[in-house]
Order: sequence, then C-alpha cells, then structure tokens
Amino acid sequence: MDAEDLARLRNPPRQLPNLANESQLRLWLRTFLANGHSEDTYRANRDAINEYAPDADVPTYERMQRLVAQITGVVPLRTDMCIRSCLAYTGPFADLDACPLCPTHEARYKTQGKQQVARRTFSTLLFGPQVQHMYLSRETAEDLGWRARVTEELLELLATGQHLGDLQDFCWGTDYLEAVQNGSISTDDMLLLFSIDGAQLYESKMSDCWVYIWVIFELGPDKRYKKRYVLPGAVIPGPEKPKNIESFIFPGLYHIAALQREGLKIWDAFRERLFISRPIIIFATADGPGMSCINGLVGHSGAQGCRLYCLLRGRRKPRGSHYYPAMLKPLNYYERGCDHDDVSFEAILQAPAGLSWSQAVEIRYSKNLARVLLSTSQAEYDRRRLETGISEPSIFSGLPRNFGIPRCFPGDIMHHISLNLGDLFLPLLRGTFRCDKTDNIDNWDWACLRSEETWQAHGDLVAAASTCLPASFGRFPRNPAEKIHSGYKAWEFQYYIFGLLPGLLWSIWTPLYHQHFCRLVSGVRTALQLVIPLDERRRAHHHLIEFVRGFETMYYQRRVDRLHFIRQSIHALIHLIPEQKRVGPGSLHSQWTIENYIGNITREIGSDKEPYANLAERATRRAETNVLLAMFPSFVPPEDVLPQGAVALGDGYILLRARDRAPRLVKDLEATAVLLYLASCNVNVGGWNPAVWKWARLRLPSGQIARTAWKEGERERAGQSVRRARMVKILAETHNVLAVCQYQGSASRIAVDVKDIIGVVGMVPLPPRPTEAAHPDTNILHANRYFKVEKLSIDNSWIGREDAMEDADEEESL
Ligand SMILES: [Zn+2]
Ligand SMILES: [Zn+2]
Repeated sequence: MDAEDLARLRNPPRQLPNLANESQLRLWLRTFLANGHSEDTYRANRDAINEYAPDADVPTYERMQRLVAQITGVVPLRTDMCIRSCLAYTGPFADLDACPLCPTHEARYKTQGKQQVARRTFSTLLFGPQVQHMYLSRETAEDLGWRARVTEELLELLATGQHLGDLQDFCWGTDYLEAVQNGSISTDDMLLLFSIDGAQLYESKMSDCWVYIWVIFELGPDKRYKKRYVLPGAVIPGPEKPKNIESFIFPGLYHIAALQREGLKIWDAFRERLFISRPIIIFATADGPGMSCINGLVGHSGAQGCRLYCLLRGRRKPRGSHYYPAMLKPLNYYERGCDHDDVSFEAILQAPAGLSWSQAVEIRYSKNLARVLLSTSQAEYDRRRLETGISEPSIFSGLPRNFGIPRCFPGDIMHHISLNLGDLFLPLLRGTFRCDKTDNIDNWDWACLRSEETWQAHGDLVAAASTCLPASFGRFPRNPAEKIHSGYKAWEFQYYIFGLLPGLLWSIWTPLYHQHFCRLVSGVRTALQLVIPLDERRRAHHHLIEFVRGFETMYYQRRVDRLHFIRQSIHALIHLIPEQKRVGPGSLHSQWTIENYIGNITREIGSDKEPYANLAERATRRAETNVLLAMFPSFVPPEDVLPQGAVALGDGYILLRARDRAPRLVKDLEATAVLLYLASCNVNVGGWNPAVWKWARLRLPSGQIARTAWKEGERERAGQSVRRARMVKILAETHNVLAVCQYQGSASRIAVDVKDIIGVVGMVPLPPRPTEAAHPDTNILHANRYFKVEKLSIDNSWIGREDAMEDADEEESL
C-alpha cells in the first residue's frame, strides 16, 4: 500500500459525503452505478446528460473511477507474478528475478525505457478500507451489528442455563461459543469467511483461473451471502494452473495479519463510536483440490484423508498407494499399517472426556505437525507425512490470530452432497464404476440402470420430470443420459439425486437397495436445511450412520477389490450432522456463495480478448458497487414494490394477476368446499350462491410462486406448456422420502386459507412397478400417481441463490 492509502486506513473517515446537499455528486454516483459495468454505456450516458445539462458536468470514465476509488476505499493492490501464472512474487519468492517453477524460468521484469517493470501483475482488493467505508452508513452499520446482538442474547441464555433453541447460524455452533467464552473472539472483532474456487472461463477451452471472496459474518445470514454484500478478494489469473496458490493468497492474508497486529480503526455510524476491530477468518472453504492447497493436509487419498482430521485411518489395496476410509476390515487382509480391526462410529465421533471434538482434533493435529516439521531427512518426512496426513503447516497458521487449525476448515456441503456423491452413485447404478479383475459386474445386483435401454428410458423420465418442477427450484436437471458429462451442474445433481431418484428408481430397483438409498436421501434433505429442529437432526444423523453402515455391508462387502467404493464422500456423511452442531448449518459455509459469485462475474465478461484482466476489472467494479450500495442504501432499488394489480394479503403473501374481471359463480364441489370452509370459520352466509374472483398466481413469503389450476388449465387447452407443478403443499409433515399421492382431478375440492400454503412442490409422475403394470386394472389402480419433490432447503431460499430465483420466476407479462 502506498503512504497515502495507509494513512487513510489508519485514520478512517467518520462521515459520508452528504448527498442531500451534493445533488451533483449523487447524479454522478448513480450514473456510475447504473452504467459502471460498461465503459461504453457510461460514456454514452455521460455525453447525453452533459449535452442536455452542461451544469451536470458528469466526469469522464477515468476521473469517475478515481473518484469512486477515493470514496469507497477500493484500491487494488498490485503484486508481481510469473507470466505463466506459476506463482506470485510474495513471501519466500518476493526477491526473485525469475520464476523457479516453470521449465523456462520466465523472467519477472522487462525493460521499459530505463526502468525495470514487472511483466505481469495481479490485483488484490484489500478488505480493511472497504469495510471501514461500509460502517459509515447508519443503516449498514446497524446490519453489521447482527452478530454482536445475537451473541449477547446467546450468552445471556447460556449464563442462565437455558436452552439455545434450534441451530440457526454459526453463532449457535459450539466452536464459536467456546471462542467467545474463552475470550479469543470479542464482539468487536470482524469475522470473515474466506472462500476460494477455480473458475472455468470458457466451457470449451481449458482455462484455469482462481478467485477468492470474503463473506462478512457480522451480517445476519439473510444478508451476508447476497451479491451486494460479498466482497471480492482477488482474481488469480490463468490460463495456466497456478503452481503455488498460497503465494497468490499471501497479499490478502498479509493484509489481514497487519490488521490483526495493528487493529483496524472503524467509525460505527450506528452506535456513533470509534472502535478497533481485529479481523478473524472464522472459516476458510474450498473444494477438495483447493482445500489441500490451503489446509496443508495430504488430501482425500491419504491414509489420514478425512479433511476434518478425524481418527479414521484409511486402508489401501495391495501394492496401492490410495487409501480408502473403510470402517470394516476386508476379509483376508494383511496390509501393513492399515489392517486394523473394524472401527466403530463412536470411536470416530466421540471426543475424550473433558474436551470438545475440535479441541481433541487440534491437540492431535499440533502434535503431529510438530513431528512432521522436526523430520531430519526426506525419508523421515515422507514417513511422517504418511503417518500424520500433514504435508505442511497451513498458510492460515501464519496469521497472528486464527480460529484454530484445522477447525476453521469445515466440510463443503455443496461439493460433497451434489458432485462427489453423484460421481460415486451414478456410475455404481449404471455399472460403469471401476470393477477390479477379481470382481464381476454381473454380481452388482444394485446396478439397476446398467442396460443401455434402461438408462436411456431413465434419462427421458428425468427430462420429462423437469417440466413438473417449479421454476423457483433453479436449474432443472437435464437428461443425464445425454448431458451428464457436459457440465452437469451441482444444482442439477442435487435435484436429480435427492429429488427425483427416489421416485424414478422405485419401480426398477430392488426394494432393499431402494430403502437403503432413501436413508441417504432423508438424511441429506435434512442436512441441507438451514434451521434444523433437534429431533430432526437426531433422526437425520441416525439415517446417515445407518446408510454408511449399509453401504459397507451391501456394496463393499469387506472385499479388498471393492475398497475403492468407499470414498471420502461416504465417510464424510457421518460427520455431516455433528458438524452442524460444531459450526452451524452446512449451507452457511458451503461453496454456493462463491459459485454464484463466479457465475456472476464470468457472465459479465462474456467473451473477451483479455479475459483475465477483464475479470480482475469486474471484481474491482463489484467491490466498488457493493461498498457504494452499503454506504448509500438509498441507491438500492426497492425490493418490495408490488407488481401492477397485485394485492398484498399480509405476512408476505401476495396475489398476482391475472384476475377475473368479475366474480363468477361456482357450482357443485367447489361451491360446497367454499361453504364448508366459511362455516368452519363461523361465517353465516344464509342462502348465498358462492361466487369468487379467481386469481392466477400467489407469491409466497419464500418468494416462490404458486399457480392456480384456473389459468394453467387455459394454457393447457391452448396447447402451451403447462406448469403442472404448481400444486400447493399444505402444511403437513411427512416423514417419508417418497410421498406419493393420486391426483383426484375434479373429483375433490377443498378450501384452505392461503397462509396455510408454505411452499410449492413438484409432483412428478410415479412409474408403476413391473408387477403393477402387469395388473389388468393398472389404468385405474396406478394411474395419476405422483411423487412429491420439495425445494431442497425450502425455508431459506435466499442462501446465495437470489439471482437464480429472480431469473427463474420473474413476472410474466400478462
Ligand atoms: Zn513460472
Ligand atoms: Zn472423518
């Protein structure tokens, strides 16, 4: 940082520019916010405004950029890097003149005139100045006080021996409360989530680019994952894969370390006080490969391959080097170092008396790390690395203050649930999973999708089922028989496996396997929710444990040649629910947020000749926009403007058009239902002939849109595709994974209060079992049967998915 920026950081501003008096500045900022994403659009609008009102004097794009940087504190910090993206010249590489990692040893500098300048740099967006500016808005500062307020309430409950209630956020997690109680986190500290992921710039081209972000855990969970609050950290440009990712993260972490040492002065406009904050990275998340770059552990194939560093030791095949976390010992198995007896769930999940799980893990980790570091020869290092699963200290351990290692590296529910389990299960079902020579696929009696014919038919069913799902579910699963190898997204996998499979496989899968699989689905559906009642959590944990036990006995069957079935994604299921107690609901520190962030900025760049420079530019713009919106919330477009003709019913329920022009009389079953309902509300209507205004759509508090049969029926008659999914879910609990109902058509009508409608579910046709199909009356007995597919994590549809929701369920022109 240069001296001026540093001085500003140490003496933060205490006041917002007063836009009420400076209408010109307000105009400039609004023009920039509306057009800043495109230089051309900005220039065009600037010219138009200045031509009409020369007094407006809207600055040039360049001058505006400087002005915004000054107002927001978003100043990119440039760091030299190898032109082939191997490393950044930081830390141990800071003084080098050439890259030690690429075969061509690319030079760091080039000569320009008489000067040596770096051939390539990348930018880091420093977190400190941005957050100082965010606190200048009274409204945003109040929002940023969320954690402090909740923590106070929780401590009060703890002090008076009361129950904390359902887990709602990381603040309810035992690790956080422990840190607050022992004073290692204070309410003035700034808690951050660091999240890193690789970004694919073009679907077809190979390009490796990494991006990281900061999520501010001072905000409540309903705000912190939203686009306008997520702060970009850096873009690590490709196209070649960085060989040393840590060196690129270094400038951002070094900045955090400096703030921890010195303290970050912040003026809090809500509480009107100056305070000193010391940022702490409470969680750092990444997918598997990214994680082993930041946690210093050996990764999933090691003998100690569990990323939560539990005690389970993997087992390898004879002459193999990949370890698999099987709990049951294979038959006739004598591999040195991994032929231990069967391992029990208790042995892995229970902490020694007097210690929390994290404390026990950390004690073991520290001891083992010390052993690795004390190795005196390469051979000794290799041996100890294998033994301990630690290859080096985590870059995060270099911070003066941290939440604890490895406790700050929680599992990632997104990759685990959607991608990793999908990668395992689908090939097993199709019989395309690796089969050793001593094994025989003909004995894989679980492989119900093995024949090409069945697989194709199944793919068609999935594609057809998608038309039965509400748009608010996000992206529908495409036909897996056609698309599974072309960028099938995590979101698709999630609905395919945990929404559709239980129903679509019911008719063709051996009931024993189907029931076993439903345990997984049940546990996962619960784990994906954000607020989970205690008894549900217990049930889900039980289901997942039983699933893992069953998977070992039914699939792997203690066979050495099937050890590779037991991947970390199976093992990690036993941690899924206990982890929630430790660090809060898994969705809160999942990679969904960074995935959405990457989706947003890569969509913005489109196809560009200099994509990496442009991507970094996008990240800077995003930071500026976010800080500006935080400073001036009045710039945020209002969210709750009702569409034309809509009627708010209170509690977040809104009737949306189309609507009948006049009341229409209803007859028969419908009339009876209306009268019965009114009678149940003690409304005496005398001899009234029921007449109703029909509405097409109802928006629910979750943002989902329920559609009525009235307009949907018309569309169907007009030959348009019908949103058949828009049947409504009545408040009721079902414990079954596969909830099936038979559609009554016009044979049944019931009137309900709209506020009993809590969500929109998909109803997907349930294929009959072969024995059913053979029944002579199958058309009566098994027709019109549907199974329910619920929105996964329905109670909190906002978790980083707001954009997908908007895209999907946007208002229709009527
Ligand atoms: Zn290089
Ligand atoms: Zn484990």
